[in-house]
Parts: sequence; structure tokens; C-alpha cells
Amino acid sequence: MTWLTARYEDVVSRLEQNHHFPWIMSVGCCSHEIQNSSLATYDWQRLGVDDVSTDPTQSNLLILGGWINTERAQEIKYVYDQMRKPTAVIAIGACAISGSPYKALIDAPSVHGEVIKAEDIVPVDIYVAGCPPRPESILSSILELQKKLKPGPSHREVLSEALRN
Ligand code: SF4
Repeated sequence: MTWLTARYEDVVSRLEQNHHFPWIMSVGCCSHEIQNSSLATYDWQRLGVDDVSTDPTQSNLLILGGWINTERAQEIKYVYDQMRKPTAVIAIGACAISGSPYKALIDAPSVHGEVIKAEDIVPVDIYVAGCPPRPESILSSILELQKKLKPGPSHREVLSEALRN
């Protein structure tokens, strides 16, 4: 019985550590892939990502996608400062990671002013390359984040092992 309780607590604690409350700030084409990752086909809730909160103070995962100009940078910093700490950050797509193919290649008039990398605004934990990245890459970034936050077996591995024994 003690063994069962310990295993149960281990599994529950691991599930809690891997439970993310996302706040998404994305523009441009990457937004569609982020949305796809959250919907039924890819369903990132399977990996512990909850519904998007209506309040950044109740979120602990900031997902950034698309181009970032000076106006967006200010909004991102403002939101990040309000979020629950520790706040994990995932930068999705070439625009958020390296500047702006959106601006450089398309010279989109919607991108006013200077373009800025996500890492120059907030500390980025995981980068998801692509233009846009596929939902599989976005889901993979969630697993990478969980490994980074808590090295060792994932909650799926802990659960599988507990069920095997
Ligand atoms: S990285 Fe590519 S797909 Fe994503 S917003 Fe920029 S131009 Fe669009």
C-alpha cells in the first residue's frame, strides 16, 4: 500500500510539474500552426498544455510567434512581467527567433518599424525553427520544455512505468 501511495504521489507530482497554462502572442502565418497544435488533430492538451487563460497573471507559458516590432515588443514585455513565475517562453518560427523573414522577404506594410528578436525582449527557453514550423515541431517543443524544466523521465514515462509494475 505504501508503495502504491508513493507511486501515485510520484505520478501526480510529475503531472503537476508538466502542466502548462499558455498565453499566446502571435501574428502572421505562424498563428495558424499554433492554433492547429491546440486543436483536435494534434491536441497539445495530451502533453499537459491547458486551455489558453483569459488572464496572463494565471499563465505560466508564453508562446511567441510571428514578427515582432517595437510596439509588439512593449506589449510582450508588459504581459511577461505580469505572468506567473517561473514563466517558460517558447519562440515559434523564424520571425520570432531571428528577426523577420516576413518583413525582409515580403516587406509587409503591416510590420511597422524595427523588427526585434524574441530573445531580446524576454528569456526564451525553447526555439522552434521553421517558417512556419509544423504542429509536430510545436508539440515536440513542449516535450523539450518539460525535459528542460525537469530533467529525467517525462510524465508519460513515469506513468507507463508505474502501470507496468
Ligand atoms: S516565421 Fe514564416 S510563417 Fe511564421 S510568421 Fe514569419 S513569415 Fe510567417
